[in-house]
Amino acid sequence: MSDDSAGREQDLSRLLVEERVFQPPPDFAAGAVVADPSVYERAQADPEAFWAEMAEQLDWYEKWEEVLRWDPPHAEWFVGGKLNACYNCVDRHVHNGRRNQAAIIWEGEAGERRTLTYWDLYRETNKLANALKSLGVAKGDRVAIYMPMIPELPIAMLACARIGAIHSVIFGGFSSEALRDRILDAGAKMLITADGGYRRGQIIPLKHDADYALRETPSIEHVIIVERGRFPLRIVSGRDHWYHRLLQEAESYCEPEPMDAEDILYTLYTSGTTGQPKGIVHTTGGYMTGVLATLRWIFDLKDDDVYWCTADIGWVTGHSYIVYAPLAAGATMLMYEGAPDWPERDRFWQIVEEHGVTIFYTAPTAIRAFMKWGNQYPQAHDLSSLRLLGTVGEPINPEAWMWYYEHIGRERCPVVDTWWQTETGMILLTTLPGIDYMRPSYAGHPFPGVSAEVLNEAGEPAASGYLAITRPWPAMLRTIYNDPERYVEQYWTKWDKATYFTSDGAKREEDGYFGLLGRVDDVLNVSGHRIGTMEVESALVDHEAVAEAAVVGVADEVKGQAIAAFVTVKEGNEPTPELSEQLRSHVVDKIGAIARPQSVMFAGDLPKTRSGKIMRRLLRDIAQGQVLGDVTTLADASVVEELKRRYEEQEDG
Ligand code: ATP
Ligand code: MG
Repeated sequence: MSDDSAGREQDLSRLLVEERVFQPPPDFAAGAVVADPSVYERAQADPEAFWAEMAEQLDWYEKWEEVLRWDPPHAEWFVGGKLNACYNCVDRHVHNGRRNQAAIIWEGEAGERRTLTYWDLYRETNKLANALKSLGVAKGDRVAIYMPMIPELPIAMLACARIGAIHSVIFGGFSSEALRDRILDAGAKMLITADGGYRRGQIIPLKHDADYALRETPSIEHVIIVERGRFPLRIVSGRDHWYHRLLQEAESYCEPEPMDAEDILYTLYTSGTTGQPKGIVHTTGGYMTGVLATLRWIFDLKDDDVYWCTADIGWVTGHSYIVYAPLAAGATMLMYEGAPDWPERDRFWQIVEEHGVTIFYTAPTAIRAFMKWGNQYPQAHDLSSLRLLGTVGEPINPEAWMWYYEHIGRERCPVVDTWWQTETGMILLTTLPGIDYMRPSYAGHPFPGVSAEVLNEAGEPAASGYLAITRPWPAMLRTIYNDPERYVEQYWTKWDKATYFTSDGAKREEDGYFGLLGRVDDVLNVSGHRIGTMEVESALVDHEAVAEAAVVGVADEVKGQAIAAFVTVKEGNEPTPELSEQLRSHVVDKIGAIARPQSVMFAGDLPKTRSGKIMRRLLRDIAQGQVLGDVTTLADASVVEELKRRYEEQEDG
């Protein structure tokens, strides 16, 4: 993280203030899980008591002796408590009357459907857990998981949790190299994969790709393969095993391992938006407490909901809010294997309609894609089952928020904008949908029991600056796997070692609402003003022709940095020089001359991580004619090649 070139300490500017406010719909508020605004004060008065109360929602073998032991920057939560995450996600529902309730309603890309009840999940997880044991996996061993979005993926995670093995899920879209590096970092003993999966009608040959990684991963002793299709592959005898065969032979009950609250549940890498991915470590008791409490309160979860989070389980959103929280809550969730535009661009709305989805949680990048494609796709479907919408992953521009609210929620559904990170494990900033008003593009405020501030360089509260978390929270990361120094260095040294540095810029309004301004690494520095990317991009997206925008700073002799904008237009709009001129003026109208982009470059798409986040650092490299930085987490390499070519043409012309 760098200060501005002059070395001056200076806060981020706040340029755009969104004044629109939306109250929770009265009928929603009337029946909401959290209807009493005093929860905030109650939790604030005694956060540890609050979290202890939340922890009671889990089943424990042994109760904790101490809620929090805080030796900054190292926290232990629910010290001495013992529990099992799989037991909490599966067994207790089987014993408590949910045995025949649908846990997972799965839809494959080609249209196949499977429904797994809690009882089904119980049977499969028990058997797989026994199979893992029979192949020598024991408590504390690491298991790598590289799978498509099929029910066997959560089953594999739960089976690991059941026996106390640490899973490391590697997103199925990652390359063999990325898989290899993550297996090596974890020292994984086993790999669970599938013969393949589907994406836009294509087969993704996971086992075939994994075989390349496996040449260089001596720690792997066994590989389990789920048969998804009947895709051709090579079996190495003695090492490779079919999932279904193992399950046929496995005993039907496996006693869950009583885990210490602080035993590791899993490790997971960050998306790699800004640089080298970090292997984040999450433990059991605090994590489960945090994700379950936030799911129930923020998503207003009720027994008859059909909850759909569209993330891939390979990301933290999927770990927390597809697997651990919904299953711990005994929810019915929808899981979809494929792409939103397959076979047509209305696939998500078709799924919502056909399965009666009530709660829908997705990312701004997806919302901007829906906007780009046009309103006709959601319009063609009955979305009246929906009652709550959520977003996560990036700042959401006010225009995208409004589109989501109007065209998907049809002005009936509250929208929760949830800010959190792989590191935080659980949502930290949000609104509670039954009691808080919504302000487009503002995440809201800290969840009860969480404390956050916007701080300046010196660590003083400021109207805009850096988002900091000022008290430990139960689902917080405990360390970076194999790199305890980096844990301290990265997160706990910017101010004092009890204040967590998020790496995100933020502003805070008078009503206490937090708005995210973009990543600190991406901050622009124009004529001595430090400007977050979010506000300039939002001004661009505010223009009716624009679907998505990203801005970066390029060296400028006069201003220090000038703003280079990259823009994709909505279907039916032409990227012309006139439009480029209009967009530059539009930014000036919205937020002022200081933010006028020096150049606007139209692009078919923007470079994104495999989780869909814009990688501004690559745009910066392109705009400055530099060699591209680390591209291993880039989703589609052709996008940057195309941009580079266009940029060079523009420079020549
Ligand atoms: P890396 O840390 O490797 O660069 P990453 O930060 O993209 O990758 P994640 O942990 O998946 O990895 O993403 C967390 C980040 O996503 C946050 O720090 C923030 O920048 C952004 N983010 C998530 N949710 C929101 C939100 N609701 N509003 C604004 N930004 C968000
Ligand atoms: Mg990050």
